[in-house]
Amino acid sequence: MQGVRSIGLMKAKEINVKIPGLYIHIPFCIKKCDYCDFYSVTSRSAIPVFLEALFKEMTMYRGDFDLFDTVYFGGGTPSVLRPEEIQDALNAVRRNFDLSSNAEITLEANPGDLDLAYLTSLRNLGVNRLNIGVQSFNEGILRFLGRRHSVEQAVSAIEEARKAGFDNLGLDLIYGIPGQKKTLWLETLNQAISLLPEHLSCYQLTVEPHTPLGKRCGEGEFSLPSEDLQYEFFMMTSEILEDSGYVHYEVSNFAKGMGFASRHNQKYWDHTPYLGLGPAAHSFLNNQRWWNHRSVERYLSAIENGAKPIEGTEVLSLEQLQLEAFYLGLRTKKGICIQDCSTKYSWDILAEKGKSFVELQEKGLILIENGFLYPTRNGLALSDSLALM
Ligand code: SF4
Repeated sequence: MQGVRSIGLMKAKEINVKIPGLYIHIPFCIKKCDYCDFYSVTSRSAIPVFLEALFKEMTMYRGDFDLFDTVYFGGGTPSVLRPEEIQDALNAVRRNFDLSSNAEITLEANPGDLDLAYLTSLRNLGVNRLNIGVQSFNEGILRFLGRRHSVEQAVSAIEEARKAGFDNLGLDLIYGIPGQKKTLWLETLNQAISLLPEHLSCYQLTVEPHTPLGKRCGEGEFSLPSEDLQYEFFMMTSEILEDSGYVHYEVSNFAKGMGFASRHNQKYWDHTPYLGLGPAAHSFLNNQRWWNHRSVERYLSAIENGAKPIEGTEVLSLEQLQLEAFYLGLRTKKGICIQDCSTKYSWDILAEKGKSFVELQEKGLILIENGFLYPTRNGLALSDSLALM
């Protein structure tokens, strides 16, 4: 794709009452984790030139996107950036776009990077939501995953974040690790609950064959938990967190009330427009999705040549949008608004899928109430296959 404008985008604010979100991908990590399949580089040396390119990329979208009400620094590890670099990035955002006065500004962070001085600087810069990649409160599991931080650092980072004034704190955790007993996961979950985060993301470990963990798995060093065990982990997590006052609002996400649900991530699930900047970042506007080069080198070289660093684009047909809305809706507690299917996607979903919905209701996987179709806890556990039933 040569440029987004070349395929005729209208300004986001003209065609969509929903305010878009801005995602900024920081493709740097100090050390690669053994399970990680994301693109990132481990040298800090390219950060200054990357930031220059990022600021240029912002100027390329001036006019296509005017207003954002969320900014999400993801990665990679955004907390490898110094406070001055984050300040420069936020200044560049404000120079090129409008930000709502109550914008949610999230930064993903590694516990090993967080001390009180750093966290206070972030808070003073306007970062108001911190997502800490804790992954586990078990030292052995952290080592197995190849994480570079300790349990002590994770606990300290959470405490220091509170002292720095963060009142919207999220923790990422991973379960379903080879050899992990349910009691061990329960210990991590209970420790997380005791630290009172406003948000928890609990992901099932996926092991890609080309990662260090994947290779060890391929050589037979360990095997992954069975589907039945993964299901038990999922159900136990949902039950325990909901009993502790968290809303299980998406397959992997829990919030202390919907006021603490990630405003930014929800945009991905209901076709709200978003702009993704940086290597590998995806964007969506109207019925178009496009994505940037994964490699930092290619990303930098495109921008140096004055082009948007876009690797590919797709224009989604009405049928594809319907399918996505269905698939994504089934991953959320809110579910699918039947009226929206008709008005947004010209889709009489009940007429088309009514028969399979009766079966899914009988199996206890979905409910249809008050104009919404939504998954039960069992349905959420099986949401990937639910959309195919
Ligand atoms: S910190 Fe995150 S992005 Fe970086 S290597 Fe580890 S899992 Fe991957």
